[in-house]
Amino acid sequence: MSTDPNRPLQNQKALVTGGSSGIGEGCAIALGTAGAAVAVNYHSSPGEAERVVAAIRTAGGEAFAIKADVSKEDDVHAMFAETIKRFGTLDILINNAGLQQDAPFHEMTLKQWERVISVNLTGQFLCAREAVREFLRRGLVPEISRAAGKIICMSSVHEVIPWAGHVNYAASKGGIMQLMKSMAQELAPKKIRVNSIAPGAIKTPINRAAWETKEALENLLKLIPDGRIGEPEDIARAAVWLASDQSDYITGATIFVDGGMTLYPGFAASG
Ligand code: NAD
Repeated sequence: MSTDPNRPLQNQKALVTGGSSGIGEGCAIALGTAGAAVAVNYHSSPGEAERVVAAIRTAGGEAFAIKADVSKEDDVHAMFAETIKRFGTLDILINNAGLQQDAPFHEMTLKQWERVISVNLTGQFLCAREAVREFLRRGLVPEISRAAGKIICMSSVHEVIPWAGHVNYAASKGGIMQLMKSMAQELAPKKIRVNSIAPGAIKTPINRAAWETKEALENLLKLIPDGRIGEPEDIARAAVWLASDQSDYITGATIFVDGGMTLYPGFAASG
């Protein structure tokens, strides 16, 4: 167990899915800075993943890039086998990979529905299952952490806020809420902690259209009582804390990191 407050994840091994951009990139770098060795998963951009790996190494950390499509069982098996081979074990999974394929409800194709559910929800199931298998195999190592393993699911404010035009995405995030809570209930006796982070609007490639123009950003800010769009680092700080022993008594929780987006700001001046 680390006693250095600046490196609360010292000697721990982490895997970040979708770690080559946006929130995943922020989490991978923050975990590395906090002392963890980090496997940076990517789907299709090896160059971006290597950039994240280089940033972690430059800061004195250990990291490597690994390709896998989280929605494919064989890819996930191979990614965990390689990570455990290189690191010896795994302590932390940041279940972050996700995507959007938006359409009006009546025009949404089965392919769009299935792609989003298979990456955002089935992908989190497949990765969490492999992580838990390793946590159970290895068991608790008190010198490393008070938990036998930690899983952080990247959910969204849309696990509770309905989202017209994005029903596949909102359904996937609502599913993550019950996946996370049911896993947490089942695994707490084994000292495995499972929690979610629900980001609000964070400035990343996934939602470029919502912040790219002045007009779009002004519209978006009406939904955020805090008055600013979030940055990946806002999420990364919460991820480091949830992965550390500082949050050891927290399991089954969703931490909303959203500048107040879930406070129904429309009711501030009416209703
Ligand atoms: P992003 O597009 O930068 O990151 C998503 C990452 O997932 C990318 O690196 C992408 O390559 C990866 N990915 C997509 N499909 C994959 C697959 N099949 N296998 C492996 N990796 C795959 O966007 P982001 O905003 O950083 O999103 C990260 C997570 O945060 C997502 O789960 C997203 O739903 C969630 N989120 C984001 C916001 C936001 O405002 N940006 C808000 C709420 C939740």
